[in-house]
Amino acid sequence: MAQAQLRQGALPRPLPTRSDPSPPRPAPDDVRRGEAFLAKLQEFCETRVDAARIEREAQIPDETIKGLKELGALGMKIDTKYGGLGLTQVYYNKALAMAGSVSPAIGALLSAHQSIGVPQPLKLFGTQEQKDRYLPRCARTDISAFLLTEPDVGSDPARLATTAVPDGDDYLLDGVKLWTTNGVVADLLVVMARVPRSEGHKGGITAFVVETASEGVTVENRNAFMGLRGLENGVTRFHRVRVPAANRIGPEGAGLKIALTTLNTGRLSLPAMCAGAGKWSLKIAREWSAAREQWGKPIAKHEAVGAKISFIAATTFALEAVIDLASQMADEDRNDIRIEAALAKLYGSEMAWLMADELVQIRGGRGYETAASLAARGERAVPAEQMLRDLRINRIFEGSTEIMHLLIAREAVDAHLSVAGDLIDPDKSLQDKGKAAAKAGGFYARWLPGLFAGPGQLPRAYPEFNPAGHPDLSPHLRYVERSARKLARSTFYAMSRWQGRMETKQGFLSRIVDIGAELFAMSAACVRAEMLRSRGDHGVAAYQLADAFCRQARIRADELFGRLWTNTDDLDRKVVSGVLSGRTSGSSTA
Ligand SMILES: Cc1cc2nc3c(=O)[nH]c(=O)nc-3n(C[C@H](O)[C@H](O)[C@H](O)COP(=O)(O)OP(=O)(O)OC[C@H]3O[C@@H](n4cnc5c(N)ncnc54)[C@H](O)[C@@H]3O)c2cc1C
Repeated sequence: MAQAQLRQGALPRPLPTRSDPSPPRPAPDDVRRGEAFLAKLQEFCETRVDAARIEREAQIPDETIKGLKELGALGMKIDTKYGGLGLTQVYYNKALAMAGSVSPAIGALLSAHQSIGVPQPLKLFGTQEQKDRYLPRCARTDISAFLLTEPDVGSDPARLATTAVPDGDDYLLDGVKLWTTNGVVADLLVVMARVPRSEGHKGGITAFVVETASEGVTVENRNAFMGLRGLENGVTRFHRVRVPAANRIGPEGAGLKIALTTLNTGRLSLPAMCAGAGKWSLKIAREWSAAREQWGKPIAKHEAVGAKISFIAATTFALEAVIDLASQMADEDRNDIRIEAALAKLYGSEMAWLMADELVQIRGGRGYETAASLAARGERAVPAEQMLRDLRINRIFEGSTEIMHLLIAREAVDAHLSVAGDLIDPDKSLQDKGKAAAKAGGFYARWLPGLFAGPGQLPRAYPEFNPAGHPDLSPHLRYVERSARKLARSTFYAMSRWQGRMETKQGFLSRIVDIGAELFAMSAACVRAEMLRSRGDHGVAAYQLADAFCRQARIRADELFGRLWTNTDDLDRKVVSGVLSGRTSGSSTA
C-alpha cells in the first residue's frame, strides 16, 4: 500500500531505488503483440472511425462496432486461450488511450465492456466453466455491461435494492439499474443484486451474469448526457428474470467485494484515456498556437498562452508516467495496485479536465465553437469543446473524486491507526491508552529519527537523476522524500487533534491525498524520464518535461500544505448549515 507507506514517511512505490531507477522491461513477446495490435488499431481509427458522425448521430455506427469486433478489440485483455488478444495491462491501456482520443464514446464502450463488464469479474472470480462459456463470446462478439448503480444508490452501493430471490436452482431478479454504460446494446450483463437470507442461503449482495435476452429484462430509456453522446447508456428493469445459479459469480454475499475489486483495476482504463486526451490536447495546442498570430506574433509566444502549453505538455508526460507505472504493477499480478489505481484515476481525471479547459482557452472563440460549426464555415473541425464535455464525467463515475479522496485517505489513516492503535481510540479507557502509549512510544522512538531526518535531507541523494547535459531531477526526488515525511507528521498531528472525528474532516483528508497524488506523479515522471534517457529515447526532452512537471507540482503541493491548516473549512461548515436551514439565503449573502 504505497499511499499508506507514503503517509508513514516511507517512499511511494514508484520511487526508484538507487541501483535500479528503471521499471522492469516488459517481455519482448508482449511488446511485439502489443505494438502489432496498436498499429492495426491506429489504422482502423484513421480510416474507419468517423468521430464527427458519432457525435452528430449520438451513436456509434453498426459498421464501426462490427469492425472493432473483427479487430479483436472486444477481447484485448482476454487470454488468447479464450480467443482474446491477451494484451498486457500496459498495452490494453495504450489501446484505450488511442481509441478514446479519436472517439471517447468508443473508448468508453471498450473500457466498460472489458474493464468492468463481464470479462473482468469472471477473470478474477469466475469458475472455469463460466470462463469457458462466456469469455470466448466476450472476446469476439458479445458486448457486456456492469450494473451496480440504482436510482437511490450511487456512491454508497451497500444499500442497493435489486433483489435475487432463490427459486429452486435459479434466482429471480427484480429491480431497476440506472446509467448502465453499454446496457442498451449489451448481450451480457453483470448485475449486482441482494439475495435475502433464508434456509440454506447466506444471502447478501451477490454478482450474476445475466443474458440480456432473458425474459423480463427491459431497457426502459436510453440516457443522454452533457458529453459522450455516443454512449449506449440506459435504464434497465428486471422483472422476475430467471437466472441459473450457475451464473452466480462467487458465493452469495460476495457481490460488493467483487464489484469493488473489479472497479479497483478497472479504474486504470480511465486515466489511460485521460492521458490520451492530454496528448491530443497538446497536439492541437501546438498546431494552433504556432499558426495563430495576434499582436504580430504566434500566440504561443505570448507568455500567458505559453504557460498553458507548458502545463499541458508537462502534465501529459506525468500522466503517461503514472499510468505506465501503475499498469506495469498490475501486470506483475503480485502487486496490490488498489491505491495506485485510485490515485491515477483521481489525478488523471482532475488534470485532464484542467488540460482540456486550457486547450479551449488557447483556441479562444474556436475552442467554444463546435466542430460541426467550424466545419460548416470552412475551418478545421477541432472538437475542443466536445473534449471538455466528454471528459467531465471522469470526475464522477467509477468512484467520484470525493469518494477517491475518502478511499485513499482511509488507507492512510488506517496505517497510522495501526501504529498508534488504542492511543487515539476515543472508546478506550485511560488505562488502555496508557498501555498503548508505552507501546507506541517505543515504536516512535525508533521511527521518528527516520521521519525527521531521512536521506532526503542529505545533499546529493539520487545522483543518477543528474546526468551530464540534462536538467537535475534529484532535488525533486529529495523533495518527495521530505514531503512524504511531512505528510506523515501532519497526519499524526491531525489524528491527535481530531481523534474519532478525523473521518469527518474531508477538507483536510482531501488535501493530504492530493499532495500524495502530486508526489506519486513526480516520482513517476522522474522515473520515466530516466527510463527514456537510458533507452536513448529523447532523454533531454524527457528530463526537461519531468523537471517542468515537478516544479509545477511542487508549487501545487506547497500550496496544499499551506491550506492543511489555513483554510475556511470551519466557516464553510457554518455556512452550509445556514444554507440548509434556510437562514442563509442567496440574496442576503450576495
Ligand atoms: C455517463 C454515466 C455512466 C455511468 N456508467 C455506469 C455503469 O456502467 N455502471 C454503473 O453501475 N454505474 C454507472 N454510472 C453511475 C456512476 O458510477 C455514479 O453516477 C457515481 O457512482 C456517483 O453516484 P451518484 O451519481 O448517485 O451520486 P451520489 O452518490 O448521489 O453523489 C452526489 C455527490 O455527492 C458526493 N458524495 C457522495 N457521498 C459522499 C461522501 N461520503 N463524502 C463526500 N462526498 C460524497 C459525490 O462525490 C457527488 O459529488 C454512470 C453514470 C454516468 C453519469
